Amino acid sequence: MTARWDEDSRADRVADTFRRLYGGSPDGVWAAPGRVNLIGEHTDYNDGFSLPMALPQTTLLAARARTDGRLRLHSAQGDGRITELAVAALTPGVVTGWAGYPAGVVWALAEAGHPVGGADLHFDSTVPTGAGLSSSAALECAVAVAYDELYGLHLRGPELARIAQRAENAFAGVPCGIMDQMASVCCTAEAALHLDARTPEHHRQVPFDLAGQGLRLLVIDTRVTHDLGDGAYAALRAGCERAAALLGLPALRDLPAGELTRALEALPAELVPLVRHVVTENARVAEAVSRLRAGDAAALGPILTAGHASLRDDYRVSCPETDLAVAAALEAGALGARMTGGGFGGSVIALVEAGRERAVGDCMTAAFATAGHRPPRVIEAAPGAGARRLTPTPATR
Ligand code: ADP
Ligand code: MG
Repeated sequence: MTARWDEDSRADRVADTFRRLYGGSPDGVWAAPGRVNLIGEHTDYNDGFSLPMALPQTTLLAARARTDGRLRLHSAQGDGRITELAVAALTPGVVTGWAGYPAGVVWALAEAGHPVGGADLHFDSTVPTGAGLSSSAALECAVAVAYDELYGLHLRGPELARIAQRAENAFAGVPCGIMDQMASVCCTAEAALHLDARTPEHHRQVPFDLAGQGLRLLVIDTRVTHDLGDGAYAALRAGCERAAALLGLPALRDLPAGELTRALEALPAELVPLVRHVVTENARVAEAVSRLRAGDAAALGPILTAGHASLRDDYRVSCPETDLAVAAALEAGALGARMTGGGFGGSVIALVEAGRERAVGDCMTAAFATAGHRPPRVIEAAPGAGARRLTPTPATR
């Protein structure tokens, strides 16, 4: 009830700001969520599996089509200015800063041959940025769903996700797999999304009734980002590709868990932990899905914690702050906890029994204070809906 009301009043506010910025009403207001990944990290670019869920935090977009090929962009979280571009002149490298993400989506749609033109766009988001919660995918996917309607494209969810991913990779210049965009577009409320990155079209909704099972999911934003992110990501990705090539496989996803030990003997030492993480992580996704389908969400706890150990010790993408948040959550009685997202900072998720949220939050704050870190931000998350239209076309224009 409250969430719905909040969303309606936020939609009214972005429409009001749109009118102030551009004059006249938007054609509609759309929402796209951030996400947390429950399990299946660094698997998407190995053609593997993941299990994200959408956050209640969303990026709202008030949008109106234009007939003159101009694209105007403004964000409440941007630099205060309206960026104005010509759709026909969009090319990778020409748009810098935050505007590259939404402009990239328009470019990617045009590049794929869709008949798209200009628009006036105003964004306002509650997804924390740079916290590993995919504010960038929320930004892109809001544009993708809005353009899909404004230009009558009728694209399916996975097609919109691919367009958004292409925007991020080729236009904004950020390498990422398909998971974030698939989660933002295709998740549904009270479910996690079982995603196979090789065939995103075959994703499945897995019921995830946290509240009904007396559970809560906490998202702890450590408010830390270590800058080695991009280069390290590229190196990990290259390592995985090299390992798959040495094993004669199209991707590491094709190595069955039962053949892991033998495969590791054939690999150079530096690739062993990477392969071990990817293969065991894919197995953890399968295990998590079967536990959820059996109605035992609490069983996710140890799976999350094992996933964190693998990211920390094998894949080596955790950092002292995420390790500390996981340790503090477990010490305060969480059923399980892990870093979520690409790593090198960002956020941690903790699965807790209802009623223990406060104890975990307090323990977290105390542990961060003792270690001399800024206090983390702790939010509670229930699985939300994917990208959608919020308000119909206002009549006045
Ligand atoms: P994450 O996706 O984990 O939040 P990224 O570094 O991938 O982190 O994306 C964050 C970037 O996305 C920001 O630095 C900004 O450029 C852009 N961004 C996301 N949301 C918004 C927004 N509402 N307004 C303007 N820029 C945004
Ligand atoms: Mg991102």
